[in-house]
Amino acid sequence: MYLLIDESTRHAAAIDPVNASAIATAVHDHGVELKAVLTTHHHYDHANGNADMLGMYPEITIYGGDSRVQALTKSVNHGDTIKLGSLNIECLSTPCHTKGHICYYVTCDPDPLGSNPGPPTNGALASEKVVFTGDTLFVAGCGRFFEGSPEQMDYSLNVILGNLPPDTKVYCGHEYTVANLKFALSVEPQNVDIKSKLNWAQNRVAKKEPTIPSTIADEKKTNPFMRLKRSSVKKYTGEQDELEVMAVLRHRKNEFQA
Ligand SMILES: [Zn+2]
Repeated sequence: MYLLIDESTRHAAAIDPVNASAIATAVHDHGVELKAVLTTHHHYDHANGNADMLGMYPEITIYGGDSRVQALTKSVNHGDTIKLGSLNIECLSTPCHTKGHICYYVTCDPDPLGSNPGPPTNGALASEKVVFTGDTLFVAGCGRFFEGSPEQMDYSLNVILGNLPPDTKVYCGHEYTVANLKFALSVEPQNVDIKSKLNWAQNRVAKKEPTIPSTIADEKKTNPFMRLKRSSVKKYTGEQDELEVMAVLRHRKNEFQA
């Protein structure tokens, strides 16, 4: 779960608020006005708090890209945009884990208060870009292909998300980072970026600190599912065709014991 706050208006949106009371506490503690729920997909561990959220905040809009999303009030499609104060939220359709999976890409107006030239006045970097990826893209991994094909996951990860600016921060739906990096290292034992990130992630987890966010640039260095063209990854799978590489990676990951 995440709480996204536009500091210029104190408007907020909750991403996959499955524990509605915990989000309500955060909304209260931050003194913000909740405007929306952004649902990545219909699975219970992402959407099951929506009815409770609507009960507590009857004015909010519940967004999602799938009619199976609990308490959905506004259906979105690829390319739709949502305004939250000075924040622009673009809906990215990334089917495969589920058919209606949506990632939410957030950018900020350059000067939300429209006053002084110079540094942004809303406390955040105006150039900061973030994407909420649900169960499509994890740090060093991806979601299971419950309702889609290797081709769809390739398109979702390597075209839709892969074409976002490299410094876009990635906020995913689960923290599977250490297990994913262990698998990534088994795919590419010589990859120094994976080695150092695994070491970093294990230290973070030991200190009970999050390993999220990542960045799109980081994922392209360490996530095997975003490295299908690499000879080392092809060699591990024994395949040349990128979609076959994707299929074998997913299959091996399902069997992998970290
Ligand atoms: Zn899911």
